Amino acid sequence: MKLPSATLDTIEMDIDQLGIKMYDLIAELYPICRSITGNGVRSTLDIIKKITPIEINQVPSGTQVFDWTVPKEWNIKDACVKDRDGHRIIDFQQHNLHVLNYSVPVHKKVSRAELEEHLYSLPAQPDLIPYRTSYYSENWGFCLSEKQRQALCDDDYEVCIDSTLQDGNLTYGEYYIKGETDDEILLTCHICHPSLCNDNLSGISLVAHLARILSTLSLRYSYRFLFIPGTIGSITWLALHQDITQKIKGGLVVAGVGDSGPFTYKKSRIGDAEIDKSVIHVLQHSGKGYALREFSPYGYDERQFCSPGFNLPVGSLTRTPYGEYPEYHTSADNLDFVTAGSLSESLSIYLEVIHVLENNLVYLNQNPKCEPQLGKRGLYSALGGETNAKERQLAMLWVLNLSDGRHDLLEIAEKSKIRFQTINQVTRQLENAHLLVRLPDRSI
Ligand code: ZN
Repeated sequence: MKLPSATLDTIEMDIDQLGIKMYDLIAELYPICRSITGNGVRSTLDIIKKITPIEINQVPSGTQVFDWTVPKEWNIKDACVKDRDGHRIIDFQQHNLHVLNYSVPVHKKVSRAELEEHLYSLPAQPDLIPYRTSYYSENWGFCLSEKQRQALCDDDYEVCIDSTLQDGNLTYGEYYIKGETDDEILLTCHICHPSLCNDNLSGISLVAHLARILSTLSLRYSYRFLFIPGTIGSITWLALHQDITQKIKGGLVVAGVGDSGPFTYKKSRIGDAEIDKSVIHVLQHSGKGYALREFSPYGYDERQFCSPGFNLPVGSLTRTPYGEYPEYHTSADNLDFVTAGSLSESLSIYLEVIHVLENNLVYLNQNPKCEPQLGKRGLYSALGGETNAKERQLAMLWVLNLSDGRHDLLEIAEKSKIRFQTINQVTRQLENAHLLVRLPDRSI
């Protein structure tokens, strides 16, 4: 097998075109009714497989995973509420958010009062259907707009949920790329939401395309990509792969990357791990607005990866945080809410973070007694004519000065306030001029 030789520095990518492809994948996955288990997850993983060759794994219901148990598998064919005339006035076929996710089967006549106890709507957002779940307590219900709810005037209704809740499997997808070292970077997304674009599908699409891009490159780190149901998926994966967790040197929970809001980075519980410093550096130099959040034990799957028994360096890089946009967990988180432009911008930021991780090495200055003469090595002329020649010259001086075996390139970028990409480029030039030698990984 021929190993790839391209790196993130040499690969040519049409990032705008990739944004369109990411959007198209979201559009293909949007109609599927997903949940934490079931055929919707399997169909989703089959479609992801067309982008990147993930391995699909199944864990049987009843499997004990730390303090949790893999639940029964849920599948649904149809659901509706019919009025007296037999009209489907709340219809799962119109929108899969209409059914309370994980509803147990039901088929009966109910009074309006009884039906009301099983309805969920948003009085403050009267046109939107909310997204509600009942995974761990058996229930049935319907979600509808407040306007639809106000229009209910019959005395009784027929409710029908044609679902099954039986022993089966929890299904998840995984893809692994072996790099130069066994140390791993983890990229994980949740796959359990039905028709919701930003919260769920944008993360899936970004991770799938990122995996595809990285699979063509020569990489220093190994990379692991997880497509898992939220909470129970990460708990299950961690319970079954405790041996792998020591290899995870950094990770990101990917979600909410398709809206047009500013980037938000929630730090890992460690707070100053290489992944934290890398993301923060990239955002600082992105020229775009961004926000930083300290770790908190609430949110996406970083809750599990950062639980004290693991305390992995895993943060979460999103755009507008979950719950802080009005479309969140409603029917308005649809194909109009995410854009190809936002997706491609998010992908660029993720690729730049990976570029930092890949190249954040430690070098040793081979001419440490006074500054080496750059001119006689052609290093000044190499800079001539370049618009940022002054910054590159300054970058060379910083790299030479701090390459004493105790600073990695990201620290040098931070101290010099010069973008990592520039620091990395001049490092290549200095290395080619035999003024620097790369030290083995993690030697500081
Ligand atoms: Zn969610």
